[in-house]
This record gives sequence, C-alpha cells and structure tokens, in this order.
Amino acid sequence: MNKTCDICGEGTELSLLSSRIAPVTYAICRNCSQRGAENIGVVSFWIASYGGPDEAPEFRDQLISWIDGRYVGWEVIERYFQLNEGAIKQAFKEEFLLLDDDP
Ligand SMILES: [Zn+2]
Repeated sequence: MNKTCDICGEGTELSLLSSRIAPVTYAICRNCSQRGAENIGVVSFWIASYGGPDEAPEFRDQLISWIDGRYVGWEVIERYFQLNEGAIKQAFKEEFLLLDDDP
C-alpha cells in the first residue's frame, strides 16, 4: 500500500476510498477524503474518455482535484486538461490499447 496520499502526495491518516469516476481505489488522506478530491491523472483520463472537457457529464462541476499544491475545481481542471491535452490523450490511448489487449 502507498505511504502517501494518491491525491495530494502527503502521508497522514490514509484510508482506502473508491474513486467516484473510475474503477480505482485511492489511498487517500483525511483532507482529500473530506473534499471528495480525485487524482488529477484519473480526472484527466475521465475527461479524455468523453473526448474532451465540453463533452464530460455535468457532474464535472462537482469535481475537486489537486494541482500544483492546492485543491482546485472544474475551471482549473479544464485549463489543466487543455494545457496537457496532447500528452493526456496519447497516454489515454496507450492505456486503452493495453486494456483492450486483455482477453
Ligand atoms: Zn491527500
């Protein structure tokens, strides 16, 4: 098990919590858990899976993530995605191909 929080990278009072947007389980600290924060990588893949921020479900407005040392909402997440869109979509494609190869 990870010794630091999967969202903010700090290492206190970790517990396990399922992501609300992806089939992953976080080792998550109390602060992130209370905020319902999601890992930015997971959020990025979630957005990519819909084809982009504009296509993501309305639920996006409720997302909280952690970027550059602070909690952020959808506005910043969307900007982060747009800035990193090429790399995210490439990584998503590769991940998808890997999953796709499973029998
Ligand atoms: Zn945390």
